[in-house]
Amino acid sequence: MTSLFVTGCGRGIGLELVRQAMDLGWDVAGSVRDPEVAVSLERRFPERFRVFVFDVTDQQALRDAAAAYGGSLDILVNNAGVIGPGRQSTLDMDFDGFAETLAVNTLAPLRVVQAFLPNLRLSGSPRILTISSIMGRMSYAKSDRIAYRASKAAVNKVMQGLATDLLADGIAVRLLHPGWVRTDMGGPGADITPQESAAGILEIARTTTIADTGTFVNWDGTTVPW
Ligand code: NDP
Repeated sequence: MTSLFVTGCGRGIGLELVRQAMDLGWDVAGSVRDPEVAVSLERRFPERFRVFVFDVTDQQALRDAAAAYGGSLDILVNNAGVIGPGRQSTLDMDFDGFAETLAVNTLAPLRVVQAFLPNLRLSGSPRILTISSIMGRMSYAKSDRIAYRASKAAVNKVMQGLATDLLADGIAVRLLHPGWVRTDMGGPGADITPQESAAGILEIARTTTIADTGTFVNWDGTTVPW
């Protein structure tokens, strides 16, 4: 049975990934920050689902969760993310908010990978998918929400490096744009539903092999230019 761990699974794309992976019969686990959300998820998915409570910026909590998870993990999805502070233009920056955005969107995915690496190494087909965004593309010069854009551009570089470093171990590392999705972050006017996005992401997760490592793909499987 395929095992999956999704960070930030209490709402949005993460919740839908969990719901659909449960329907596929996978062995599903995920993380939330709020213990009350954890309780409601446990009620909603009483079988084959394990929920862990941690903030992705908390290194010790991540290590504890990975140890408690125990055993083999096939697919890790770095999904948790933030859009960043209200003031995030290059000429008017909330620097504390910028630092927090980098901590969650850029540093935390690597922290999560490092914590769960022992579990991934036990899998016969380990895959790491980090949800990035086309807003981080270097080939597209726009300046709105620059803290968010910079955090996603930086996580692309970090994960590209990780793909190189884990190649010999046979651990595939990919970056994924989930589409413009109708969640709290994407807003009600976005292009696609969380259901459509999650279905695409799970199909990519299911079919990813080490031959795909180091690539940046859209939710529909097409390549995203860096
Ligand atoms: P939501 O805002 O709906 O959900 C964000 C999730 O991340 C929540 O579960 C939230 O938990 C969690 N999270 C935020 N900060 C932390 C933290 N410090 N520790 C643990 N969990 C945290 O966003 P989406 O579902 O739309 O986005 C999911 C991913 O997709 C993000 O990485 C986002 O950047 C990316 N993305 C989304 C797009 C869109 O159109 N929606 C487009 C491109 C990329 P909590 O409930 O506790 O706040």
